[in-house]
This record gives sequence, structure tokens and C-alpha cells, in this order.
Amino acid sequence: MPAPSPSAPAIRIDNLVKRYAPAKGARGSMSEGKLALGGVSFDVPEGAIFGLLGPNGAGKSTLINILAGLVNKTAGSVDIWGFDIDRDRRNASRSIGIVPQEIVFDPFFTPFEVLENQAGFYGIPAALRRSEKLLEAVRLADKRDAYARTLSGGMKRRLLVAKAMVHAPPILVLDEPTAGVDVDLRRQLWELVSELNREGVTVVLTTHYLEEAEELCDRIAIINHGRVIADKPTRELVEMAREKIVAVTSAADLAAAPAHEAFGKVEWDGARAIEVTYDKDRLSAGQVLGILQSQGIAIVDVTTREADLEDVFVQLTAAGPDAAG
Ligand code: ADP
Ligand code: MG
Repeated sequence: MPAPSPSAPAIRIDNLVKRYAPAKGARGSMSEGKLALGGVSFDVPEGAIFGLLGPNGAGKSTLINILAGLVNKTAGSVDIWGFDIDRDRRNASRSIGIVPQEIVFDPFFTPFEVLENQAGFYGIPAALRRSEKLLEAVRLADKRDAYARTLSGGMKRRLLVAKAMVHAPPILVLDEPTAGVDVDLRRQLWELVSELNREGVTVVLTTHYLEEAEELCDRIAIINHGRVIADKPTRELVEMAREKIVAVTSAADLAAAPAHEAFGKVEWDGARAIEVTYDKDRLSAGQVLGILQSQGIAIVDVTTREADLEDVFVQLTAAGPDAAG
């Protein structure tokens, strides 16, 4: 693998713009073409599992395809492992392995042949190939000689991961690896990705599953309409959700829902259960309970709920492109 520039991030994306050419025959005001990326900048730190999160149409695949060399950018610059993709495409490509969103294989090749062909493509001499090892790593050793067309969807995904790792790149990029796959396979893929990361591979994955990004990634950039609206360690992003909820059961039926100017929303089931939503920068759970008790409510049970990434995501995407720094 090529040596990295000292202290450079694994990937640096600076003011990246992509405007697709208008469709043939398009006329009038729409003839400028679709602006898929409107000046995107972020760094992927070496060693991270980095999540690029955004709804369908946000621009994720466009960005990944620029990294892969499949789409030409309109403006901006991209360094992969310290190599500028314009000036040093060859080294940039050798530093990255990409698992595309769409599964495409020649159905008549076996998994072993798929990996050998890819090794040939990179000019890796037979003695240095590691097809068997890679098949083991993605749990496909027993499918070594099966036709690709006989593999399940999950097996094909895993084979694509192995294919992306043939040239032992320091960076692995997966575009929506778990879109439309079942829970078991998702687990398997997460494990595989974590394993590679523990071995030192920097991982970038795109997803529109919040839960996936929250569980797997140490840093997340959120992209919406071709713009980055957040780029933070996962923990900080989750912290950005200000609201917390305290659910309380009172010892006796209440005559009315409690009210206080410091509370956000209060939900009351008409009997003994209350849920108070509050701004955690303003109040603590203890203070909420104190207020309820001062109103004569005898509390017999309490649970609290933290906001999760979904709350943050909804806040950010609802607030528009200028919401976060
Ligand atoms: P995502 O992967 O986040 O779902 P994409 O990068 O695929 O988003 O798409 C971003 C935007 O660019 C969408 O509006 C999409 O319709 C448009 N787009 C994607 N590919 C092309 C293309 N080849 N030609 C024109 N527009 C495209
Ligand atoms: Mg996509």
C-alpha cells in the first residue's frame, strides 16, 4: 500500500461540487443540470469508522463515485491517503477499496475467480494474492467454487467487500452496504467492518439508517441536498439533541396534567402516567421530579429517555442547511 503523507487525514474533501449534465433534450430553466453536491468539505480521520449519513438523493453515492473515479467532479479537490485524485489518480485508487451500492458480478465467475480477476486487474503477482484468505475473512471459503449467480444477496455483498480489499487498501468505502438486507446479514456485515477496522483499515460507509451510523461510526457527517449540515464525533452529535424525557407514575390518579413554565411538552394518560419533555440545558431530571413533587404528586416510578440520533437528524434536516456548524 502506498505510504501516507505524515499526519494527513485518510480522506480530505474540500469544497466538492458536482453538477450533473442536463438530460438530453432538457430545455429552459432546468437546463443547468442537477446540483448533486453544492460545496462539500470534510476530513475522514485515519483509523475511523466514518459515517456519511443522509436521506435518499442527498448526494452520498455521487460523492463515493467521485472517490471511485466513476464520476467526474465539477469543482473542488479530493485527497485520498494524501494523493490528489487529479494529480495522482493511480496512487489515490490504490489506496481505496470501494463497495458500490449496486451489486454487479459476472454470474458465471466463482467467488475465487472474481477475486483472482480483481488481483489481475491490480497487477498483483500470483504469489502475493490472498484470495483464499479473503474468502475466509468474509465467510465464503465454502463457496469458493460456486457460481456467483447461485450466491444469496448477503453472500454477494460479502464477496464485494472481499473484492474491494484485494489490493489491501488502507481505506474501505461501502455505499449503503445494508440497504434492503435482513437483520442477520446486517449484523454480519457490521462485524466484518468492525473487524477490518480493528486491523487498521479506515472505513467510510454511507447509510440512511440512523441506528447503523450511531452504533458503528465514531464520526458522522450528515449530508442533505448536497450540503454537509453536521460533521462531528457521534457522541457530540447525539448530545446535540437538547430534549430529554422523564416518564413518571404517580401513586394516585391525577385530576389534571401538571404544568410548569420550564416544561416542554407534558403528556398525561388521564390517570397516573405522565411524560414530561424538557430541555436538558435548562433543567435536570431531578429538578423535573422536584417540581412534580412540589405540586403534590407522589412519585412511585421514574424512567428517563435520552434523545438519540434520530431526534438530531430530524432537527437538523428540518432546520435546513445553516443549522449546524
Ligand atoms: P444518494 O446516494 O444520497 O441517494 P445520489 O448521489 O445518488 O444520492 O443523488 C444525488 C442527486 O443527484 C439526486 O437528486 C439524483 O437524482 C441526482 N443524480 C444522481 N446520479 C445522477 C446522474 N447520473 N445524472 C443526473 N442526476 C443524477
Ligand atoms: Mg446512494
